[in-house]
Amino acid sequence: MKLFSIFGNPVSHSISPRMHNLALNGLHVEGCYIRTLLEDGSQLIEKFNALQLDGANVTVPHKEHAYKLCDQLDEFAKKVGAVNTLVKKDNKIIGYNTDAPGFFKAIKSFGKINSALILGAGGTAKAIATILQKNSLHVEVLNRSEGRLQYFKDNGFPSYSWEEFEPKSYDLIINTTSAGLSDNSLPIDKEILNTLMQKSKFAFDVIYNKKTPFLNLAKQNGLIYKDGADMLLYQGVLAFNLFFNNKFDEEKITDYMKGAFYAT
Ligand code: NDP
Repeated sequence: MKLFSIFGNPVSHSISPRMHNLALNGLHVEGCYIRTLLEDGSQLIEKFNALQLDGANVTVPHKEHAYKLCDQLDEFAKKVGAVNTLVKKDNKIIGYNTDAPGFFKAIKSFGKINSALILGAGGTAKAIATILQKNSLHVEVLNRSEGRLQYFKDNGFPSYSWEEFEPKSYDLIINTTSAGLSDNSLPIDKEILNTLMQKSKFAFDVIYNKKTPFLNLAKQNGLIYKDGADMLLYQGVLAFNLFFNNKFDEEKITDYMKGAFYAT
């Protein structure tokens, strides 16, 4: 019997248990995926071991803790600096980041993209910037404040705070801030965002259970847009396959996990 969990704080809203349990059942794997509220991120590995888990996912605010505490890191997760998937292998806990490839799979439906502007400079922005750079896109970063931009500057991304920014043309605008999540705010000044959107083709918001003001503005500007639901789905599909050493068909896992988005 395999056992998996998601760790986060809060974690009660997470649909990961539903996604993974649907895939476990559908693929006839004897296993269960639970949720664990973790207040102190430094206890992540202790908890993982106490529960005798085979694998886990990590969500806000523990992804950096996970990065620091794993026995071993996948090369890509090392570059991003954040881990959302833990896999037990030969008595070691290995850390991966599937948020980034999950995002990349989600934007495949847009078609060819050469350039992107990322709004926000937190953990999700790092993951997205790294995967886009790896796939040879030109990526720039715009953040409210200067503090978090250093990582991006050090890794070769033209990066700006609000004060320094002049709108240019990008194929894709990505909101990785939590603006619009629990309020009705936009991630940047409306006039600047309108100017940016008039010059671009696609918009993506990592927020997934609501049509944010950012996406509403994208719609008004005639852009092709997407919320973060597919990113969430695909990070789960990729994590599931890491738990099982890639032995299952990705499309089958995807079909089972999709059910979690329609269940009430
Ligand atoms: P962080 O806290 O690491 O970063 C947040 C960033 O957003 C910071 O750069 C911050 O700017 C900026 N920001 C926050 N509030 C505002 C605001 N009101 N206006 C403008 N900028 C703002 O967050 P994460 O990167 O970990 O997560 C961001 C979002 O991504 C969350 O909503 C999370 O739920 C979502 N997410 C979705 C996933 C999916 O699968 N769909 C996967 C992972 C995350 P400053 O530096 O100035 O404070």
